[in-house]
Amino acid sequence: MTKTYAYGAQSASTPLAPLHIERRAPGPHDVQIDILYCGVCHSDLHTARNEWNNTLYPSVPGHEIVGTVTAVGDKVGSFKVGDTVGVGCMVDSCQHCASCAEGEEQYCENGFTGTYNGPVFGGENTFGGYSDTIVVNEKFVLRIGHTDNLAGVAPLLCAGITTWSPLRHWNVGPGKKVGIVGLGGLGHMGVKLAHAMGAHVALFTTSPGKVADGKRLGADEVVISKDPEQMARHAGSFDFILDTVAATHDLDPFLNLLARDGTLCLVGAPEHPHPSPGVFNLIFKRRSLAGSLIGGIRETQEMLDFCARHGIVSDIEMIAMKDINTAYERMLKSDVKYRFVIDMATLKDEAKAAA
Ligand code: NAP
Ligand code: ZN
Repeated sequence: MTKTYAYGAQSASTPLAPLHIERRAPGPHDVQIDILYCGVCHSDLHTARNEWNNTLYPSVPGHEIVGTVTAVGDKVGSFKVGDTVGVGCMVDSCQHCASCAEGEEQYCENGFTGTYNGPVFGGENTFGGYSDTIVVNEKFVLRIGHTDNLAGVAPLLCAGITTWSPLRHWNVGPGKKVGIVGLGGLGHMGVKLAHAMGAHVALFTTSPGKVADGKRLGADEVVISKDPEQMARHAGSFDFILDTVAATHDLDPFLNLLARDGTLCLVGAPEHPHPSPGVFNLIFKRRSLAGSLIGGIRETQEMLDFCARHGIVSDIEMIAMKDINTAYERMLKSDVKYRFVIDMATLKDEAKAAA
């Protein structure tokens, strides 16, 4: 075991602070990674504050990890020391259920192991990317094709795949009218990816100050979702809408924008449930209300390769590790352009000073 410096929460009401965790020595199939950057997902905040009522403490969040391989087990075939790699939301799954067999490890019927807050129903806790190093089975390690702006690549590991997977599943592409709700970490990747897939993209935002950015990021039009007149102009016209909002809200205004057979897919996972939508808004146009969870490992690699080919990265604000609590407060105010990424050099400096 290796003692590793990290940042975590000791309870739902305590801010994140430095702590030490243990990382296992790399086994035959393991890759040991020196973490360079870690994105800050709203799920990190939900978890640190026990908003989903399942947090194991201490909680070390972080599942948008980019780093450098520092050691590999003797059975590892795909990675070598010095490679730039990524780790997303999962570090293990059963590998034999039907979902795992189809490369949909996020739907593992025996429960995947999260990068943090791991086996929730029994078993040891896992610790995420707000740390110096991590050790991961090579099956859950991703290749990074980008050669620069690695900090901007980190958010692809969750925000990227969580929007890519439903956009692909519902066949978003040329000729489709697609809505993205919320311009945060997930939403801004959704806008970039749907645009790159060739769809007509409308961004729905509650923040009038984000209109220009929405267009710059790839939206063909931006709708202020609190303005009923702007919303009414799009009634019954969308093939697919992806809702990334991190707070409870009324779904009916978005369902009513769907064409016949259209789908509203939820990826946002707020602390409290949304009010149940009106049944008539669904049945009269055979509309669907759906959900989607991150994406499988093969699909994550496809997304990373697509982004490397198309020069797509996240728009980030880089922060020092010690500023994580301020970043959480800004995220709660929808005030981030558009993903915080922690520069892990700042954590390493802290660790040295503390040693
Ligand atoms: P984020 O960066 O905080 O973005 C959320 C956006 O939602 C905000 O920027 C804001 O956009 C909008 N919003 C926030 N509060 C709102 C409110 N009260 N009313 C209306 N709109 C509001 O969060 P994120 O990291 O993108 O994560 C979004 C959600 O997805 C979180 O709940 C997270 O846990 C979840 N998530 C799910 C998965 C999955 O697999 N399904 C994976 C990762 C994350 P505007 O300012 O544009 O309105
Ligand atoms: Zn996430």
